[in-house]
Amino acid sequence: MEQEQLPGTGLKQVQLAAIREIFRATAMALPLPEILPLIANVTIIAFDARSAWLMLTADGQLQTQVARGEHANVLMPTVCSLGEGAAGVAAMGTTPTTLWPGTIDQADPVLGSLAGHAEPVVLVPIVAAGRHLGLLGAAVPLDTLQDTSFLVTLAEQAALVLESTRLRGEAQTWRRRLDAVVEQLGQPVLVYDRDSALVALNAEAQAWLSAWEVRPGDSLATVVKRLGLCDHEGRLLALDQTAEARALKGTVVRSLEQRLALPDGSERFYLTSAVPLRTDGQLDGAVVIFHDITERAQLLATAEATLQARDELMALLSHDLKSPLTAVMGQAQLMRRRLTGGEVDPARLLRGLGSVEAAARQMHALLDELLDLARLQAGRSLPLNRQPHDLVAMARHMAERLQIGAERHDLRVTSALPELMCVCDERRMERVMENLLSNAIKYSPTGSPVTVCIARQEDAGRAWAVVVVTDTGIGIPSADLPRIFERFHRASNTAGRIYGTGLGLASARRIVEQHGGTIEVTSVEGQGSTFTVRLPLESA
Ligand code: ADP
Repeated sequence: MEQEQLPGTGLKQVQLAAIREIFRATAMALPLPEILPLIANVTIIAFDARSAWLMLTADGQLQTQVARGEHANVLMPTVCSLGEGAAGVAAMGTTPTTLWPGTIDQADPVLGSLAGHAEPVVLVPIVAAGRHLGLLGAAVPLDTLQDTSFLVTLAEQAALVLESTRLRGEAQTWRRRLDAVVEQLGQPVLVYDRDSALVALNAEAQAWLSAWEVRPGDSLATVVKRLGLCDHEGRLLALDQTAEARALKGTVVRSLEQRLALPDGSERFYLTSAVPLRTDGQLDGAVVIFHDITERAQLLATAEATLQARDELMALLSHDLKSPLTAVMGQAQLMRRRLTGGEVDPARLLRGLGSVEAAARQMHALLDELLDLARLQAGRSLPLNRQPHDLVAMARHMAERLQIGAERHDLRVTSALPELMCVCDERRMERVMENLLSNAIKYSPTGSPVTVCIARQEDAGRAWAVVVVTDTGIGIPSADLPRIFERFHRASNTAGRIYGTGLGLASARRIVEQHGGTIEVTSVEGQGSTFTVRLPLESA
């Protein structure tokens, strides 16, 4: 703003134009280094002043920030303590101080260099809400000194500018702190405005929601529809049941369990909290935080399955141990009655002892199996007792034994080889075959045939024994196939319907792998399953 551009319509017009200029700069939120020189310039123009300057307080000191006019150079680097010299005292007051020529002390740290000049000096404190922010100083000709009220107005403007700059700075600092907290949370945070539009989301939420193409500006209804949020039991949530909708109505929602199906088909579990946002008591939106608890939920489910499987295992074991124990006790009582009755028939006694031994062996085998399971649980390897054994004979023997309890099924062993010798732990390998065969029987409830095929294969210069067990039973759902060899995992079409512990296949895989072999499954739900075991043979 140049003085000559203003029409020469008197001081009042000049002052009005000046104040308009300052208002405009303040409204545009120009930074301090631009507004303070403007105030100094305006002071010079409006008062025809020789010099004008602005000082700000910081840490108990008053320092010149900007100076214009004749004395600008000498005023600019000055600094004094609050309460020191005329400027330091004036800055602590609330009303303007006028220093007449001849009254200025030459030793004054700020005004000393103006001591010999003819103009009076006016010092106006800059005060906001009782805080002394600085000083507006001007060396003005006597004829414009009559009315200092405009200088006070300029100092008030300066106070306003300084105060709003401070508040803006504080708001920005808080914004940065809040942004940092929200980003550091490591959980998706979404903010809705009072019209239910998504207005802000942190980086975590952006990454998370990009799969559903949710973006700022989307309405809550769109977000909920795209996500397909469900309650903890998997039922689709209506819009007004969601945490965010409730928060937008003023309710604080804490730790609402929600489920979400991801586009890749997997499921995630969340504890959702939502809080209404209020400005001056008015609802102004809502903030929502999604706390991912999927791992915890899965651990809980596994822990529950483990406990249930353990109970079932205990029931199975006590049942399986009971029958050989009953046989041992029955034989012992029979032999005692015969001996006390004077009947000493060595052949009969030997037969009785044979039954006791067989029952004891059965219990021994059961306890061995239990021990293996404990090792499997602890992740320890099994001590193998490897000897050459004929797998064809082993499979026939196992099929005959299991056929006895499975009259409805037709168990067939096929092999082009009369025998296939494999160095393996007989007891453990029998257990693998028993598990595959008894599963094939158990999971073919209509009594369809079960086949075991034994073959020898050459592969990459190595010879393998291949045992394939096939059934045409209920099959395994494809979602369960990847986890079917995991401990305690039971397929969704069997759990709770057909008795089992989910331990047999995990134990079979451990045994086969310890022999250097592999076990695989192919299955179609409703059509049947094929389990293939490959064991390395010593020589090709
Ligand atoms: P269990 O049979 O005691 O549950 P397993 O570890 O032997 O434990 O088997 C794990 C799960 O694999 C079973 O619960 C069942 O869901 C599935 N499964 C195993 N074999 C078959 C099969 N032949 N047909 C269908 N499902 C099977």
